[in-house]
Amino acid sequence: MTGKTSKCTKENVFKVAAVTTVILIILQFGVSSIFYQYYHPLAVLVSSKIAPVGKQNSSGEFVDIRDFIVSGQLRHKDRLGIASPSLNANASLPRKDEACPFIPPNLRGAVSVDKSIKSYDEIKANYPDLLPGGRWKPKDCVSRHRVAIIIPYRDREAHLKVFLQHMHKFLQDQQLDYGIYVIELAMPTKFNRAMLMNIGFVEALKLYDYQCFVFHDVDLIPEDERNIYSCPEQPRHMSAAVDTMGYRLPYEAIFGGVSALTKDQMKNVNGFSNKFFGWGGEDDDMHNRIVAKGYKIIRYPIKVARYKMLSHKKDKANPERMGLLYQGRKRFASDGLNSLKYKVNKVELRPLYTWVYVEINEEEVKKQLEKDHELAHRRQPRV
Ligand code: UDP
Ligand code: MN
Repeated sequence: MTGKTSKCTKENVFKVAAVTTVILIILQFGVSSIFYQYYHPLAVLVSSKIAPVGKQNSSGEFVDIRDFIVSGQLRHKDRLGIASPSLNANASLPRKDEACPFIPPNLRGAVSVDKSIKSYDEIKANYPDLLPGGRWKPKDCVSRHRVAIIIPYRDREAHLKVFLQHMHKFLQDQQLDYGIYVIELAMPTKFNRAMLMNIGFVEALKLYDYQCFVFHDVDLIPEDERNIYSCPEQPRHMSAAVDTMGYRLPYEAIFGGVSALTKDQMKNVNGFSNKFFGWGGEDDDMHNRIVAKGYKIIRYPIKVARYKMLSHKKDKANPERMGLLYQGRKRFASDGLNSLKYKVNKVELRPLYTWVYVEINEEEVKKQLEKDHELAHRRQPRV
């Protein structure tokens, strides 16, 4: 009797231990998956039914977004821009009034770039549901990001056509609520890329309540749809790997080509400087503005942030750019969005983009610069 009891007790102890272990394992799994859903990049994707795992892209390359996330070493908050507390990784198809999936389900991964030049009508025929002004948003869910693409522009029509043909599909696959704005500078003023960015920011906000802005050279064509044009938590330099530069970052502080900022970030840094006419310097000045405000520039992994540059002649560099850059800090607070002056000649909602045709007065901008210099000198105590 005693022997049987002790056997029973032993068996019971084993049973209890086994059941407890199983319960603990289940509990651990549950808790960690909730935890990881927000903090671990892999778990979101592994548990997500919407992740496009194991798709093949047009060039036959195997696309596994989980592989990208792991090898890309992206932290959760940097991964797709703004981390969303409403993320529901297990959601099936979203309802019309629900936020779109955190990971867009139709991302194609690496995509090829078609450099053939089509007519605007041909391009438009590929995008029947575009709204006037090159606007679009997903029909089945509410986009997580309202993004304006701002293009500084003059006399690059062939590039613009290749860009539009590529970008509408690219941005739609990313389920963005977006518009494309081409800010064209009238002749004869010297080109001023930065000032056109500022104008694009102001004019786009008059037309729609954008949350963020992607400032985009017309000749850079992204090669991977995982390079999401979402609203960034910190200012994001997007064109990290350009083919003409051997797909390598030329220098750590680079901020030219394609970059993304939220409306608030743009306002906080007072936009771009208006003083850079001709080629160069304005992007480095923007880098300095961003760093001076305590932001940290982020980038996607080099294997995703890939672009092809369409060929063009190299512009003559502005000989004054280095001087302007070194003196830049003194002007952050007074030169930018708060001192922006321009004249809008025309705004047209064209089928593939919004055309904003503007004039700026170089003489006026330069006179203001001289006045600012004089004032700064006068304020300095004489020794
Ligand atoms: N740009 C333009 N017309 C010009 C000069 C520049 O439209 O005459 C715009 C265009 O969007 C271009 C960007 O400004 O991609 C940057 O100029 P560029 O391509 O000449 O600079 P780089 O590639 O040599 O840095
Ligand atoms: Mn270029």
